[in-house]
Amino acid sequence: MSTTSELRGLVKYPAGNEFRRVLRQRVAEYFENRGISTHGGPRMWIKTATIIVWFLASYLLLLLWATTPLQAVLLSVSLGLSIAGIGFNLQHDGSHGSYSSKRWLNKIMATFLDLTGGSSYLWKWQHNVIHHTYTNVEGIDEDLKVGALGRLAPDQKRLAVHRFQHIYIWFLYAFLPLKWWFLDDYVSLGQGRLGDHKVPRPRGVELFLFFFGKFQFYAWALVLPLFLHSWTVVVPVLVLTSFVTGVTLAVVFQLAHCLEEADFPARPANGELELPFDESQLATTVDFARNNPLATWFLGGLNFQVEHHLFPKICHIHYSAIAPIVEKTCAEFGIPYRNNVTFFDALRSHARWLYRMGRAEPA
Ligand SMILES: [Zn+2]
Repeated sequence: MSTTSELRGLVKYPAGNEFRRVLRQRVAEYFENRGISTHGGPRMWIKTATIIVWFLASYLLLLLWATTPLQAVLLSVSLGLSIAGIGFNLQHDGSHGSYSSKRWLNKIMATFLDLTGGSSYLWKWQHNVIHHTYTNVEGIDEDLKVGALGRLAPDQKRLAVHRFQHIYIWFLYAFLPLKWWFLDDYVSLGQGRLGDHKVPRPRGVELFLFFFGKFQFYAWALVLPLFLHSWTVVVPVLVLTSFVTGVTLAVVFQLAHCLEEADFPARPANGELELPFDESQLATTVDFARNNPLATWFLGGLNFQVEHHLFPKICHIHYSAIAPIVEKTCAEFGIPYRNNVTFFDALRSHARWLYRMGRAEPA
């Protein structure tokens, strides 16, 4: 198990090179030439307001207005999607510090994860530190570990049941939020670790935020609805909402890293990976549906995950503009730029990867 001090240096990347220098210079020039900030600005404020209104409208209509099963189902789906939208657009950017130039505003945005049942503290370690530093590195990137029933990377032990994982894994994805909300976060806090990595326990304000987040979430998601409705309605609505959120979040993250086009670097015995950091991100990360404006709006630029991994401090509203710069520079340096044209191309690739991982070792 790695300790906290080791977490940022588990394996090293070879030093950056000409490609990194040229790419970063061109992207910097894009912003300088236009005199625009790399952060969000008014476009993000409008988007933020739209998503918060979507979330509140779904919740309040569900709580105070819905009377038929069809209304409850449609509003649960809407609420589940709006929670995923908060994660993709507000919390994710806030956590990376790309939402705003103001630290406190990024912190508020990151805290939306606590307001919707998760933990912004644990997210920062799992996502910003472990996943972004060691993307798809076998045995280190915790995003590749979904429990014994899922085999997502070649180094993971194959079990007989994995033969069917391309059929059942979607149900596992559906249960992820319920697991985070009611179990995993407490286990991580109690053990002071995320998977195989020790992380510092939250203290002071962070610890308060952890428990305040959980309690206020249980209050609005469970306790308040139980004052107004029977548990036979409240529980199915919460479960359906969590399923929609879980499948949406999991699928979007898997389509960027866990599919046929992505590489899964083995953990090197000598402690140094083969490719420099930027090339490694380009080998382990795949864009999808870049020309789909609805996907680009709703997914918070996570369909431009290549750009996100290269420039996580740049707000996602700029990714579609800098993608051609990245693609052109890759072509000049002979570095593959991985992309699935449509959402369904990427979804099929993820399903095929699950199928291959569930059978004999892939060629
Ligand atoms: Zn990220």
